[in-house]
Amino acid sequence: MQFRDLQKQYQILKPDMDIAIGKVLADGNFISGRQVAELEDQLAAYVGVKHCIACGNGTDALTLALMVWDIGSGDAVFVPDFTFFASGETPAYEGATPVFVDVEEDTFNMSPTSLEEAVLKIKEEGKLRPRVIVAVDLFGQPADYTRIRQIAEKYDLLILEDGAQGFGGQIGEQRACSFGDISTTSFFPAKPLGCYGDGGAVFTDRDEWAELLRSYRVHGKGTDKYDNVRIGMNSRLDTLQAAVLQVKLKAFEENELTAVNRAADFYTKKLGTIVKTPEVGENFFSSWAQYSILLRDEAERDGLQAHLKGKGIPTMVYYPKPMSRQGAFQGIDCVKTDLSVTADLCTRVLALPMHPYITEEEQNQVVGEIKAYICQ
Ligand SMILES: *Cc1c(COP(=O)(O)O)cnc(C)c1O
Repeated sequence: MQFRDLQKQYQILKPDMDIAIGKVLADGNFISGRQVAELEDQLAAYVGVKHCIACGNGTDALTLALMVWDIGSGDAVFVPDFTFFASGETPAYEGATPVFVDVEEDTFNMSPTSLEEAVLKIKEEGKLRPRVIVAVDLFGQPADYTRIRQIAEKYDLLILEDGAQGFGGQIGEQRACSFGDISTTSFFPAKPLGCYGDGGAVFTDRDEWAELLRSYRVHGKGTDKYDNVRIGMNSRLDTLQAAVLQVKLKAFEENELTAVNRAADFYTKKLGTIVKTPEVGENFFSSWAQYSILLRDEAERDGLQAHLKGKGIPTMVYYPKPMSRQGAFQGIDCVKTDLSVTADLCTRVLALPMHPYITEEEQNQVVGEIKAYICQ
């Protein structure tokens, strides 16, 4: 059994995929081919924002957003403690001070209560300028943007939506990657919408930010790429990945997002009485980047993981360590608030095999082995 079966996906998409890739090879426009601009238009339309700027990966997408807002030394950037490292790494790389904020146990997403406490603490101390909230759509579910937006407005902060895992999620009718002042995503192969290598994108409604993003993406270009008006980076999405994503986006819209929600409902129905299954807020819709259950404690989690491994069922621990406890953040400038929920989640969380092509037979096997272990 595969944790996320990309080979099976390729076998199903193969006819369209091979044609799309073949066309790029025949055309020879490997950088900035027409597929890149086409994909940007398709993604912007899907998400419901004015501009999509494709780039090299989800980490660069975050960096590009922070560059547009000129985030750096003396700025406080609020980041959930329970997320992939890049969410906090990028503000630190820009010289800003990450302020780690706790998450909610039910949704794994940033706690608005904890966020507001952190903002007040930074304001009271008076040493840093509070600037940006990095709100992460963890495991596919959008963060609580209604409450986060209220806090952002109250304290004059910008929202950077890290939608690397969130593409395809929704609150009401509004799609993920449209909730931030700038939003980002990643096309790393295992993400909800993944390519065959590295890729990412930035989304915004603001024309002047979009123009800056397009410039920073290619060496701070001005009127053309040999006119350089600012210090930027080289972070393009290549044509092959754009062509791959065009095929994948079609499958995502037509089938995969529905299939993955069907699989999540199946797990929840079968496992809901045995372990703590993930909760999706009312009016919220997840793209299920991960399906993560919670066990009673670390011993039960580790025991179950070992049991499943013995039966050929792969699982993952996202995340084994709070970001604030990563070696990289020891001895550098950062602020830690009360992060007890994150610390607890790291000992109890376990992600199960999950992807659009998982079969009920495979899911029944996973469920059966979890029951066998927990109810032994
Ligand atoms: C994967 C991920 C990123 C980084 O994306 P890359 O494309 O791997 O650079 C950033 N934030 C979160 C929450 C992620 O899961």
